[in-house]
Amino acid sequence: MRSIDDLDVSGQRVLVRADLNVPMSAGEISDDGRIRASVPTLTALADRGARVVVMAHLGRPKGKIVPELSLAPVATRLSELLQRPVEFSPALTGPDVQAAVSALDDGGILLLENVRFDPRETSKDREQRQRLAADLASLADAYVSDGFGVVHREQASVTDVAQLLPNAAGRLVESESRVFNRLISDPDRPYAVVLGGAKVSDKLGVIGNLLSRVDRILVGGGMCFTFLAAAGHPVGDSLLEADQVETVRQVLADAADRGVEVVLPVDIVVAREFSPDAEKATVAADAIEAGWMGMDIGPRTIELFAEKLADARTVVWNGPMGVFEMPAFAAGTQAIAEALADTSSFTVIGGGDSAAAIRAFGIADDRYSHVSTGGGASLEFLEGKQLPGLAVLEDR
Ligand code: ADP
Ligand code: MG
Repeated sequence: MRSIDDLDVSGQRVLVRADLNVPMSAGEISDDGRIRASVPTLTALADRGARVVVMAHLGRPKGKIVPELSLAPVATRLSELLQRPVEFSPALTGPDVQAAVSALDDGGILLLENVRFDPRETSKDREQRQRLAADLASLADAYVSDGFGVVHREQASVTDVAQLLPNAAGRLVESESRVFNRLISDPDRPYAVVLGGAKVSDKLGVIGNLLSRVDRILVGGGMCFTFLAAAGHPVGDSLLEADQVETVRQVLADAADRGVEVVLPVDIVVAREFSPDAEKATVAADAIEAGWMGMDIGPRTIELFAEKLADARTVVWNGPMGVFEMPAFAAGTQAIAEALADTSSFTVIGGGDSAAAIRAFGIADDRYSHVSTGGGASLEFLEGKQLPGLAVLEDR
């Protein structure tokens, strides 16, 4: 792929797909890591006199206008971080946005409203996506792909518009790609992956493909209950993907054949209900009773996981070990975050919530080798998959 240095941008309109999908709570940005990560590319383009038009999404509005998922607060925060004005366009297409782009000076920056408010962005119908892509491409002379968190998606603002304009990878996509290329080509071993979080079915799909690449897989978070169920244990009211149990059994058998160690929790912190001050208890992982739900890994699991990570030379961590947003269930996530911050091995944190968690614990990003802005994208990269948003970028 080409870099933005290969584009002649002075006085040109440059359309940038950024990843500004930050966690929000009560209308406030609770972690601005992804906005910060977009700064190097936007600054470089604006400094070189580009007229910068930024596209991004927030959450999953599913093709409808959802006021709570407006990017307007993100425009404000972006402007503070860039220390220059950022205009905001409530329109994505049509004369209003055309006018807003025309009004940009060299070095000016315009952020468009949540691109997923338009149903064509994520449409499975290629023609629909191409129509939106054509509208977006008409706003610019060149395209820069800098939303690493979405490069695994076939979406109008990611793959379709890239094919309509001269294109290049932004600084973030370049640096993330460098790290993940290293992980798939030549990782130091033992190589361990820690998986958790709530996007269980997404991540279960990934595990099978990771078996040929890694030496050890540690499973915590909401995912682990489908594994415990596959091992024949009751999981009470915990998060469970019942239709995936068979797949997980297959994964466990496959792992055994390949000599990949799958490490499951041995104890679980359970709660009566999904709430911060619920009645809680710590139980053995094979003895979760009905009426209780698993909220975090237990203390013996923390010890076990720390031991399994201690001699690893490469560790990738994606997905919190528990419901870390509630202090009562944050201990497992915090312990893993701290264990990895202290190692000299190559440590990569992926996943929006995992990265937000380490910052919430006050652990600096630079205590890890790399904190990725991509969750799904980083996992698919690690599987060795060709990512559509990277495949469409022109070679040098
Ligand atoms: P990431 O963004 O890092 O890829 P996910 O989006 O998959 O992670 O999952 C993050 C969410 O998973 C967090 O909001 C956390 O509360 C939730 N989670 C973790 N463990 C559990 C659990 N045992 N039960 C329910 N939700 C969980
Ligand atoms: Mg997430």
